[in-house]
Amino acid sequence: MHIGFIGLGNMGAPMARNLLKAGHQLSVFDLSEAAVGSLVEAGATAHSPAEIATGDAELIITMLPAAAHVKAVYLGDDGLLARVRPGVRLIDCSTIDPHSAREVAEAARAHGNPMLDAPVSGGTGGAAAGTLTFMVGGATEDFAFAQPILAAMGKNIVHCGAAGNGQVAKVANNMLLGISMIGVAEAMSLGVALGMDAKTLAGVINTSSGRCWSSDTYNPFPGVIETAPAARGYSGGFGSDLMLKDLGLATEAAKQVRQPVILGALAQQLYQAFSAQGHGGLDFSAIINQYRKGDDL
Ligand code: NAD
Repeated sequence: MHIGFIGLGNMGAPMARNLLKAGHQLSVFDLSEAAVGSLVEAGATAHSPAEIATGDAELIITMLPAAAHVKAVYLGDDGLLARVRPGVRLIDCSTIDPHSAREVAEAARAHGNPMLDAPVSGGTGGAAAGTLTFMVGGATEDFAFAQPILAAMGKNIVHCGAAGNGQVAKVANNMLLGISMIGVAEAMSLGVALGMDAKTLAGVINTSSGRCWSSDTYNPFPGVIETAPAARGYSGGFGSDLMLKDLGLATEAAKQVRQPVILGALAQQLYQAFSAQGHGGLDFSAIINQYRKGDDL
């Protein structure tokens, strides 16, 4: 299939490569020429957004930083919806707030373009390996069309309901992830401060009722899990500023429906303070450094 792909960053570039590997024809655009150049080397063709919109692509996928970029690319005066043929399918894989996702999907629907929101989980490793989880919002028949294409980039493709619900699933999951990481950081730090060996404590937690992904797969205490960012100075992984962004989306979305997210808001403030201290580039498990005393760092 001929697919347009806009947004070739840390996630979009490896996703686009996997579409090429699956045999799709790709027309790509990014503000960064280097990002476009590297995809062209892999077999894609470079085009402007206007060329992608007016070309013969059956589907256009976007993977952009935040809602403002998504709105500009779709709804701007020169945006995709101003030019694209009715009937061309659209999928936005960026992580944005559910309200904006629904606004853009509704504008697309009114223009005659079926649209899905399909944010992902799995990070840059999952994007490269083609093992992402896609949380998809939109009509059932549009999901059925997109499923085999998304399967070239991911392992779990989940239909979450109507437009915007992919983003709902994403913000709910990532809010829980932020809260659970802080919980594990707090518990591990308490246990070690009270004299326990970190590995032994993690072993107990991971076979007891405190077990969760943040404890058994991504434990924030250095030395517990060899493959976790804690073992390499919290480099790589999922940046604290990205977690801060997702917690902001969760608290903003909660405000719109007057739903209390007490721990989510607290987690957001903890990551905001961490970012303000200059640590936003560290993996989000580095939040444990807010708890550890100087002598055990
Ligand atoms: P990134 O900043 O690496 O890439 C975004 C790309 O979009 C950049 O290459 C930028 O040049 C391009 N861009 C910005 N505005 C544009 C425009 N108007 N037209 C064309 N291109 C434009 O970000 P990323 O890490 O690839 O993340 C993309 C999305 O995926 C974000 O919403 C992020 O929250 C989400 N996400 C990221 C991760 C992760 O681990 N990085 C994991 C899951 C979800």
